[in-house]
Amino acid sequence: MTELIFEQSTAGRINNAQYQSGTFSIDDLPQALLRKTSPALPEVSEMQAVRHYTRLSQLNFAIDTHFYPLGSCTMKHNPRICNEAAMYDGFSGRHPLSPASTGQGVLSCLYDLQEILKDISGMSEVSLAPMAGAQGEFTGIAMIRAYHEARADDARQEILVPDAAHGTNPATAVMCGYTVKEIPTLDNGDVDIDALRAAVGPQTAGLMLTNPSTLGVFERQITEIAALVHEAGGLLYYDGANMNAILGKVKPGEMGFDVIHLNLHKTFSTPHGGGGPGAGPVGVSKRLVPFLPVPRIAESSGEYVLLDKNDCPQSIGRLSCFMGNTGILLRAWIYARMLGREGMKRVADYATLNANYMKVKLEQGGFDMAYKSRRATHEFILTLKKEKTETGVTAMDFAKRLLDKGYHAPTTYFPLLVPECFLIEPTESESLEELDGFIAAMEEIRRESVEQTELVKSAPHSLPVRRLDDVRAARKLDVVWQEDAV
Ligand SMILES: *Cc1c(COP(=O)(O)O)cnc(C)c1O
Repeated sequence: MTELIFEQSTAGRINNAQYQSGTFSIDDLPQALLRKTSPALPEVSEMQAVRHYTRLSQLNFAIDTHFYPLGSCTMKHNPRICNEAAMYDGFSGRHPLSPASTGQGVLSCLYDLQEILKDISGMSEVSLAPMAGAQGEFTGIAMIRAYHEARADDARQEILVPDAAHGTNPATAVMCGYTVKEIPTLDNGDVDIDALRAAVGPQTAGLMLTNPSTLGVFERQITEIAALVHEAGGLLYYDGANMNAILGKVKPGEMGFDVIHLNLHKTFSTPHGGGGPGAGPVGVSKRLVPFLPVPRIAESSGEYVLLDKNDCPQSIGRLSCFMGNTGILLRAWIYARMLGREGMKRVADYATLNANYMKVKLEQGGFDMAYKSRRATHEFILTLKKEKTETGVTAMDFAKRLLDKGYHAPTTYFPLLVPECFLIEPTESESLEELDGFIAAMEEIRRESVEQTELVKSAPHSLPVRRLDDVRAARKLDVVWQEDAV
């Protein structure tokens, strides 16, 4: 199989099936803007191009082809209807610069989404502006900063982050100019509340917490934690990437959080991976409302308007051009409207049921759980430490061998707290057969680790690429084609 489309190129072969002649001429462009040399494009027929890209797409492991239990990332089924409806001409054809008066339809949908997210999260107001979870975090911490600054409370320069947190949490705090103080986790998966008590003080700007945490457990002391941080004058940030576990059941606002982000691309029907696209709306409690980013959609006597900096003088400003990632927001709105209140609850019911089923079955099969005594949320952690000691086979080897068996690997080596860990999130969309298939594959790999150790250690054997140099792939990725390099 030819790997690069350039290698299939034949001079003069073109594909003009979709070119509309007569509508446009090169002469229409200003001479000064014309390039001097032709672009180095592959010269192939339409058929060749179709085959090439279809073949490439089939080399991928994707949620549309394989079970993808990537913990913390919620790789679940995205109903096609959400995609289809979001692409209606009336939505996708709207010019982003057109005034609110000509976009009442789309604004009414987005306003409704704000209201739904307020209801789900228990927060006072919502802004749809941020375009990723990490950008939502940045927005939230920037608002916490603006809040303290507006009160001239300048001593608060520290953000507390539990050691189990997603890497974006401490990174966000640093980007907003704060120092990060790590709070340890107890062996049972809860935050070490004595360490927290010792850490809070007049220097505390806030605490960032994920609940359920990335350890796959629900933080049971959350109301006590919220009281501790609030009494010290700090605010609480909720990382809502794990909302799938508690949708329609528990509201972050009721747990005492002041600001949250939601990953619509995880919980609300947008396929994701490879860095985008996404949407990370933020919700805030009353005291942070003035600092929300603009534009915000408001309603006044049946008319929808976009609030800007003149309407919201204390706003932290804009995070993106126009109105955020509207296509993603529309998918989320359609998904939420289709589910309704009852459907939302069912998401959490089945997401947690599936996780607990797998946890118990794998435990019965002899695997060790990191937090044995705890009920799983929508995800759970298995530690392969024992397997590594006994056979030398690591979590990475297990992950690679799973690919041979037709399963995407779970999240490996995150959270960093647990040695040789697999963070497994089955989601609500998988069938019992699929879950059983994965469990059987895990047990099979365990047998292979003993009987055919090398087979596991050298996996994958069935994919187009074998083991990659992860570090080189991350640090020295070179995917640019250059003619002279061929
Ligand atoms: C995915 C995730 C994030 C970051 O979200 P992005 O949309 O990828 O920026 C933050 N926290 C947790 C717990 C996550 O799982």
